Amino acid sequence: MKVDCGPDAAAQTHWLAVAVPTPAHSSVAEPLTYRSAQPLPPGTLVRVPLGRREVLGVVWCAQPPPPAALAERTRAIAGALADVPALDAAWRALVAFTARYYQRALGEVALAALPPQLRTLDAVQMARRLKRAPAAGADAPAHQSKTIALTAEQTLALAEIDQNPGPFLLFGATGSGKTEVYMHAAQAALAQGAAAQVLVLVPEINLTPQLQARFAERFGAAAIACLHSGLTPAQRLKAWLAAHTGQARIVLGTRVAVLASIPHLALIVVDEEHDASYKQQEGARYSARDLALYRGHISGAKVILGSATPSLESWHASAPVAEGGAGRYQRLAMTHRVGAAGEHAGLPRVLRVDMGRQPKGTLIAPPLLAAITERVARGEQALLLLNRRGWAPVLHCADCGWKSECPHCSAYRVFHKIDRTLRCHHCGLTERVPRACPACGNLDIGTQGRGTEQLEEHITELLAGVQRPGGEAVRIARIDADSTRGKGRLEGALAAVHAGDVDVLVGTQMIAKGHDFRRVTLVAAINPDAALFSSDFRAPERLFALLMQSAGRAGRDAAVGADSQMWVQTQHPQHPLFVALKAHDYPGFAARQLAERQQAGFPPFTHLALLRAEARSQDAAQAFLTALAAQAAALPAQDAAHAEALAQVRWYPAVPLAVQRVAGIERAQMLLESPHRPALQRVLAACQPLLHALRAAPAHRAIVRWAVDVDPQSL
Ligand code: ADP
Ligand code: ZN
Ligand code: ZN
Repeated sequence: MKVDCGPDAAAQTHWLAVAVPTPAHSSVAEPLTYRSAQPLPPGTLVRVPLGRREVLGVVWCAQPPPPAALAERTRAIAGALADVPALDAAWRALVAFTARYYQRALGEVALAALPPQLRTLDAVQMARRLKRAPAAGADAPAHQSKTIALTAEQTLALAEIDQNPGPFLLFGATGSGKTEVYMHAAQAALAQGAAAQVLVLVPEINLTPQLQARFAERFGAAAIACLHSGLTPAQRLKAWLAAHTGQARIVLGTRVAVLASIPHLALIVVDEEHDASYKQQEGARYSARDLALYRGHISGAKVILGSATPSLESWHASAPVAEGGAGRYQRLAMTHRVGAAGEHAGLPRVLRVDMGRQPKGTLIAPPLLAAITERVARGEQALLLLNRRGWAPVLHCADCGWKSECPHCSAYRVFHKIDRTLRCHHCGLTERVPRACPACGNLDIGTQGRGTEQLEEHITELLAGVQRPGGEAVRIARIDADSTRGKGRLEGALAAVHAGDVDVLVGTQMIAKGHDFRRVTLVAAINPDAALFSSDFRAPERLFALLMQSAGRAGRDAAVGADSQMWVQTQHPQHPLFVALKAHDYPGFAARQLAERQQAGFPPFTHLALLRAEARSQDAAQAFLTALAAQAAALPAQDAAHAEALAQVRWYPAVPLAVQRVAGIERAQMLLESPHRPALQRVLAACQPLLHALRAAPAHRAIVRWAVDVDPQSL
């Protein structure tokens, strides 16, 4: 498209604010102004020059003509993707909110939410892609109602969802039939109009196939688009277009899907809403769960958050005001497993092993081993959870005290026996295991602690003489980040467990989430104690959720799961967390945790943000943050509103991160806390220009990067 800039054409020139992918950390955060011969509506995808490149942009709004001097220098858009419908106002509002709330540039957020192939396809290619996508509503999903009778709890929950605006917190035990509720609610939402759409979010990419299969069986595969980070660029474009054009009536995906264009959104489901993977950990560090709530609000879509162990934020938000809660969500409880007689019926029995009474160094206590043996001999499956991969977390020399520290990180390198390496799990540095102590030459160096490799080896030895019902040897497998590196390996390993080709599965928390292993009747947490005394205030919440979810893996099949078990090996069997676990008492656990959080001034009673800095030295990283705090404090002299906000925000001193150095870079953070979210937001916004200026100042040349993390998941 050519724009004539001569004086006669000036009257026809349109000025457009266009969101473009501004480089991270440039202070150009606003949409840039371009000229156009046509009045392109907001949301139109355009190609525009930026520096020496041509980039994809989104028309944000029309602009008044700039002053003549500026107008002369304003560049013209290079072309519009006229065949792609414009992104609607609700999507733009969502993107604008995300950028503002998480302190990132608008263009960065907008473009990150679009499939990368939009940038590269020309008009002809694009037309071909669009032609392949049938028009909206062409495939009205046929609801294959497999006339299963809903349980009383499901019926009640669905009636509430039908009659109330929400948002809803569906607090449902594992196996209580939450997915069935999602599908019925989806059916009701789709029935609202020929174009109505539903978004279903799941935490993990490897949980999408299972859910996809269930939805596809019910609604037909053609009605469903899947969006997650594992797609090829072509697949991603195809799924995105299907959602954007309305061809996909159901969009299913991981956190990235929350920012997809879904113009006729009527319902959002966030399954396993407590899961930490809903929080993006780089770029715009958004919480997909929190954005889902915002999106539901602006789109007029109902929102259902579902979990057996809700986040304490959602639990508090869904507690009635009369009970000291916030009363913002409506809580719906389903405490019975489908087909089970009473409350907690069908949930596994929790057994605690007091490791203080076992011989020192016991990895698997005799009663647990006996239980595993019995299950395996009966042809059932066992899951052993240990949240440490590798063979041993540390190699050390008893003579001189040498430990396998990583030279580039403040962490130990982990001993991997399989390939006899020492590997840093932070920077990846991998070296062969030394024959002798590198410090003193002692040949007798040993390991400390145990990881999944060692557990696998150990249980293999312990079960060597045990036979399966058919007389075959016991089959043991391990699933962790090491065993599943490489495409398709995790899927393959999970499929083997599903198919019953594995009797004992050893793994990290990767195996605890959502997988519907039918023949598992025993789950054991080998050494969960570290999280009880972590400095991170969310560690107990995460441990409790992990153990409850793991327990939920056991006894999913009523036929074999009648007496399923969850074992916990601990030095602290009387710890309230394990007592609550034994009683399957999430509400009791949550009440105690919330009381502690209220007393300590932690979320959900306060709001947090972290300022992070990385530099060549720890001093430089901290000095940067300290300087920022001083400058922010100095601002109020000019601005009363800022002063008022600042008075409500507490600044903690700059401190090193728990893992202070990674790959030779020192990391520091500063915590900001406020009981008042808008005050925190205001102060963070005021910090943005200060951060950019400080970063550019010669005194802070050692800074490598900085970041703002609003509502951080971990401290
Ligand atoms: P959740 O998502 O709460 O863990 P699911 O929705 O996966 O539970 O349901 C657990 C199992 O019970 C599934 O196999 C599902 O097909 C089955 N189920 C769910 N609702 C019913 C029902 N009303 N009648 C019979 N079976 C059901
Ligand atoms: Zn030594
Ligand atoms: Zn390292």
